[in-house]
Parts: sequence; structure tokens; C-alpha cells
Amino acid sequence: MDYPKLVRLRKELHQHPELSGQEKWTSARIISELQIFNPGQLMENLGGFGVAAIFIPENGRFDKTILFRAELDALPLHESWDLPHSSKNSGVMHACGHDGHMAILLGLAKKIRKKTFSDKRYILLFQPSEETGRGSGQLLHDDRFKDLRIDCGYALHNLPGYRENTVYIKYGTFACASAGFEIVFKGKASHAAYPEQGVNPALTVAGFIREISHELSHFFEDDSNGKHTFTFIKMGEPAFGMSPGEAKVGITVRASTDEKLKEAFKLTESAVSQSGKYFKGTITLSRKEPFTAVINHQDGVDKVKKATQELGLQIEELTDPLPWSEDFGEFGKKFPVTLFGIGAGMNGSPLHSETYDFNDRLIETGIHIFEKIMELE
Ligand SMILES: [Zn+2]
Ligand SMILES: [Zn+2]
Repeated sequence: MDYPKLVRLRKELHQHPELSGQEKWTSARIISELQIFNPGQLMENLGGFGVAAIFIPENGRFDKTILFRAELDALPLHESWDLPHSSKNSGVMHACGHDGHMAILLGLAKKIRKKTFSDKRYILLFQPSEETGRGSGQLLHDDRFKDLRIDCGYALHNLPGYRENTVYIKYGTFACASAGFEIVFKGKASHAAYPEQGVNPALTVAGFIREISHELSHFFEDDSNGKHTFTFIKMGEPAFGMSPGEAKVGITVRASTDEKLKEAFKLTESAVSQSGKYFKGTITLSRKEPFTAVINHQDGVDKVKKATQELGLQIEELTDPLPWSEDFGEFGKKFPVTLFGIGAGMNGSPLHSETYDFNDRLIETGIHIFEKIMELE
């Protein structure tokens, strides 16, 4: 395996990050690489700019289909340090390591190409729009993807702040469910000299924030992974002549299970109607960017564990799910999924930060684990 080439490719991807839903260049670049390995089938524009390379045994017969996934998208962040391979797209950055995950899957494509295999079909999926939580849903609605009968799926994520090249597994919930709750308070704007002619939502917003914060904290007392944070509060402009008529509040809520998240939404609904009692305007609540919890398949975790042990790598079982969310969970509604982590070292910058960079020493490990899983499946 030409690892230096994969590292170069990873850095090239890093230089050309694209936001969710706009991964056109990345998709084309991935396709040009995959074509070298001549997959039996290459699907383009899946659920957006998604790509799937499908490797089928020579006799065309298979009784099992195994999927491996990487993500195409980057984040709306400004890379705040100077790397030789820094982002060329200002304000967009591969700050989650999806560039590295793609390099791993391209390395796996080469491994598959060199193998003589029978009875199994392998799908290497490069999914779009992971960061917004929309990509997997779009794929699952794409008829071409829907028609693929998939028996199980695997994905990995790099984990900064965890021991380098240690494999982190977890049975059950690996990553939490999450959603953004947006609350819009609609009153009536007026001249600041005649506030009585308008309906200013400020006090209602203040009361709501106090109320919901208390309620959610109490609600999550029995779920150590349940948490909430206010992500934006918007009302008026920095001026003094107007009494504003609208306010918006955003809360990101996380929970161990989808069920618990649904209950948190109901709780927010009742807090909204409680706050609305004395408000002369209207209040609406909506859910944004929902992520299903990633619930790992037991057999899949067993296989990751076995693969790691056979490769002589360190392994650690997480006691708690990771607090962040991953779009991979959505696929779990259609076929068993398994997500695991590879530690990226204790000292690197965290995911979604402006000084993050993917640790290239994980590429080889990732390929080896996926390859071993293929053998075990
Ligand atoms: Zn991310
Ligand atoms: Zn990610």
C-alpha cells in the first residue's frame, strides 16, 4: 500500500473543503480515484453528491452485502493556523477529519481490488451532508440506494483527545441523539417611544429561558448523557429607537436515546405553552438538524473487537456514549450499523475547532481494521 500517496491525497482533500450539500469537487475527485480500482458499479449523485463504489465477485453472485462509510463534507470554520495544506476555500474547513476518513476508504478500495473474494459484495459509500444530519436521510430516500440490499454497515471516526491508534468501541449507544429546538416569539414591533403600542417579547423570552433551563436540567438527572445548551438568542438590533416584535431562541439538546430526546421536545412544548399564557403574541417551536442516536449492532461490535485483537492493537470499551451526534445512526433504521472510534492522540486540537487537523498516522490503522472486518464478515 502506498501510504505516502494516501497522505498526499488526504492533504489535497483538506485543501478543498466543501460545505454540506455542496461537495461537488470532492465527489468528482473521489470518483476519479475510485475509477482506478475499476469497481463493478459506481453510483454518482446519491442523495446529493454521494458516491458509492460497489465491488462484486467476478461470477456476479453474492449472498451478503457489507457497507463501509466515509463522509464528504467540511464545516463553516476559518482555519486559524498556517499549514502547508491549509484550506483554500476561505471560511470552510475539514475540521472533523472527513478528509482522513475518505483517504482510509480509498485505501480500502485498493485492498479490495487486490483480493479475490466470493459470496460477498462490498459497498464503499462516501456520503454527503453528514454535518447537518441530512445526508443519510437523503440517501435512504434515493431509489438507487434503497434498492441495494445491505446486510450491515461500518464506519469509524477519529477521536482527538484519545490515545493514538487505540480503538474505542461501545455496545449499544455509541453517539447521542441530538436536535436543535428553535423557538420563535412573534409579537409586534413599535417605536421605542410607544412600547405600549407593540408587543415586545423580551420578558417572555427571559421567563422561558429560566423555565426551560430548569426543566431540562431536572429532566436529564437520570440520563448522564442528556444535556442542553442555548446556542443563540436573537432580538432586535443594537439601536435604541425600536421596540422589537420578534425574538428567536435556539437550544441544542442531546440524549442517550431517541425516545428521551422526544420527551425533551414534549417538555419544551409545554414550557412554550406555559410561557405563552401571558404573552400577547404567538410562540412556535420547531426541531432542526435532528440526529438519530447511533445504536451499535452487537455482532458488529464483536467483529470490530476481534479485528482489533487479531491486529494486535489496543482496544478500550467506552463506558458512556460520545456526547456528539453522528448521521450514521439514521442508517440503523434500515440495516445494522456499527460505529467505532480510533484515538487521534492526547494532544491534538478537538473536532470542530479552528486548529484541528487529521492525524495521518490513523490512515493505516483504519484500513487494516476495515480489511480485517471484511475477512470476518
Ligand atoms: Zn463533525
Ligand atoms: Zn465527523
